[in-house]
Amino acid sequence: MSVETKASTSWINRRIKRDQVEKYLENGQDFINETQINTELAAAPKEPSRQQVRDILAKSMAVKDLTPEEVAVLINVNDKGLLEEMRAAALAIKLKIYDNRIVTFAPFYLGNYCVNRCSYCGFNNDNCDAQRKVLSQEEIKAEVAVLAGKIGHKRLIVVYGEHPRNDVDYIVESLKTIYSVRVKTRNGHGSIRRVNVNAPAFSIEDLKRINEAGIGTYQVFQETYHKETYARMHPKDTIKGDYQWRLYCMHRAMEAGIDDVGIGALFGLYDWRFELMSLIYHTQELEKKLGIGAHTISFPRLVPALNSMIGPDWKYLVNDDDFKKIMLIIRLAVPYTGMIITAREKASIRDEALLMGVTQMDASSRIAIGGYSDAVTAQEKDKQQFILGDTRSLDDLIRDFAGRGFITSFCTAGYRCGRTGKCIMDLLRSGAEGKFCKLNAILTFQEWLDDFGSEETRAVGLPLIAKEIEQVKARNPKALEIFMNYHERIKKGERDLYL
Ligand code: SAM
Ligand code: SF4
Repeated sequence: MSVETKASTSWINRRIKRDQVEKYLENGQDFINETQINTELAAAPKEPSRQQVRDILAKSMAVKDLTPEEVAVLINVNDKGLLEEMRAAALAIKLKIYDNRIVTFAPFYLGNYCVNRCSYCGFNNDNCDAQRKVLSQEEIKAEVAVLAGKIGHKRLIVVYGEHPRNDVDYIVESLKTIYSVRVKTRNGHGSIRRVNVNAPAFSIEDLKRINEAGIGTYQVFQETYHKETYARMHPKDTIKGDYQWRLYCMHRAMEAGIDDVGIGALFGLYDWRFELMSLIYHTQELEKKLGIGAHTISFPRLVPALNSMIGPDWKYLVNDDDFKKIMLIIRLAVPYTGMIITAREKASIRDEALLMGVTQMDASSRIAIGGYSDAVTAQEKDKQQFILGDTRSLDDLIRDFAGRGFITSFCTAGYRCGRTGKCIMDLLRSGAEGKFCKLNAILTFQEWLDDFGSEETRAVGLPLIAKEIEQVKARNPKALEIFMNYHERIKKGERDLYL
């Protein structure tokens, strides 16, 4: 272990509480049954018939979850016409459940000290070239002042390595600091209203403390569900080396009271077909055992990182066509689950993803520690974890999407009104959530355009709002009076009014 990132062995040994894993196992086995997954993949027809695919699409369009066997069938679709039908169905589902809204957020890296040695990550403990840093509470405030006061973000995903320097006490304190910042803007004020957390797999006790600090979604990616590959990527003597400790962290999170959990796989470590099937098994397991599936699914694709041990000829890297198929199948398999695509991907892929059912994207992203307030050297520092593919600003992204008829939503009302967990899933399934969300999307979009939008973006965004208001008048007359009242007040500088 390198000197500057050393953590005591006793700290490392205290992390994993095996009893908090074993209680969930069935006959000593976890829920990823590799033989079963491989059998299902092998049993799927090599060239699925038109009828077979259409029957599956009809089920997705009725907002029903697909079975792993059905997912295995879709994986084998290569016919161009059928792929187009899958695209059309994914878009139709997205519009039916989420309407023409896209939610944005920013990644916020608070500390990159890490005791683990994941082969693909620039923060890994063996990477002596990484500059290590943990932001002080004052530095966090400076970053949030830029995120909420200059760029205009309302949602963050905060990211931490696994290390005593950015342990649970630090996470709790940093969440409080982030929520405390309020910055004056052009016409009102800005603040962060929802903080999602991407952090290590914690114990139930630690997760309870993080939950009390006001977390949005708790996000942990399994990276790879394939046990042999997992062992290759995560040395056994590290905390992350315990596959099952990570696999069951969402069970622990829900037991700790966290309603919204985000799962994911790092596509490119192992065969994407296996990872996709496993993601479906994971969300189904959560639904079966804890009554609610994943709130979001992420599908980051491996990108080159400083001193990463995975090179360009690694066998399992995922090409663009397969990556698009992965997105389509997730949308079709779990129609009501949020889907996140980050700026790791290039702009052209993210533009397509908008029409494939993706619901959340980041923008103006910096992944260097301190990268928002220290922008001069940030691009250089960003290379430490990996290199970003889409460097568009939030203003550019919003203008591009508005030009295509999509409203960027900064709504965080659901979480603050208690519309989380099972409640939000039921609303999404019934289509009722869309009613609140559309109204809140318009209100928050107006706020953002007034506070941060450039003239060019306002010129595209304001006519879109006018069009949306006409639709509200026609489709949602019951909420019209209060909505119009809020809209007028927001235009005069009041902030954070929501239904
Ligand atoms: N340390 C925590 C953990 O490992 O869960 C959270 C921080 S880690 C930086 C967040 C995520 O970054 C990881 O779960 C992994 O999926 C992703 N990541 C790491 N290296 C990557 C790479 N080279 N390309 C794309 N994503 C990467
Ligand atoms: Fe550490 Fe997370 Fe990077 Fe692994 S992926 S080295 S745990 S920061």
